Amino acid sequence: MVDQQTKDRIRQNWQSVVRDVHAATDAASRPADSVHVVGVSKYVDAETTLALAQAGCHALGENRPQLLWQKNEAVTFPADVRWHLIGHLQRNKIRRSLPLSPLIHSVDSDRLMTAIADESILQRRTTTVLVEVNISGEKAKTGLSPEAVEHLLTHLPSEGVNVVGLMAMAGWGTDQQDARAQFAQTRSLRDDLQQRLGISLPELSMGMSGDFAAAIAEGATMVRIGSRLFEGVR
Ligand SMILES: *Cc1c(COP(=O)(O)O)cnc(C)c1O
Repeated sequence: MVDQQTKDRIRQNWQSVVRDVHAATDAASRPADSVHVVGVSKYVDAETTLALAQAGCHALGENRPQLLWQKNEAVTFPADVRWHLIGHLQRNKIRRSLPLSPLIHSVDSDRLMTAIADESILQRRTTTVLVEVNISGEKAKTGLSPEAVEHLLTHLPSEGVNVVGLMAMAGWGTDQQDARAQFAQTRSLRDDLQQRLGISLPELSMGMSGDFAAAIAEGATMVRIGSRLFEGVR
């Protein structure tokens, strides 16, 4: 059960995040609706996740597919909720995840891209995906090197997937300034790929609770915000 105090706190947190996102779009002279907030609900149970949706957050992100399934079995989410899979996806988790029509942020290999396309074709759907790029160059980080991203984009399956952009995370412990430089690099990689490959990659998923303002300044269209939304929530 989610008590009223928790619901109120989540609503306040949501409104405060929306205000800060709007302040960041304003500061960057970008339209307020050019950035979508993905509320990362991996920290909380199904009912608390539902409370976030009811507070107005209609894009929900999970990093583990099992949690995505479990939450959707446990409660009924409003029909306008869009799910985002933001963490590593194992191929054996694809089949059960696709019926929830998630936007998959974390495609980081040819094998995974092909497997998503094949299963999408079987399920008669097209899955919208982003390619995850390891922009910080840290070994521990997931994602492809910029060179490997280009290879992936020039060898895409002809059906089943629709690649709409890139996802990136700033390296661990980077300050706002370093994070901003990494987001700028992601954006210029995107611009370069669009131009040289003649493709369209409108979406940039970058920025989390600690660095979303920097990401928005550098062109993020989706920010993935978790901990800020659950401050003060046990
Ligand atoms: C947890 C997570 C987030 C949210 O991070 P916060 O710092 O809690 O806002 C964003 N992106 C990914 C991939 C995550 O796993």
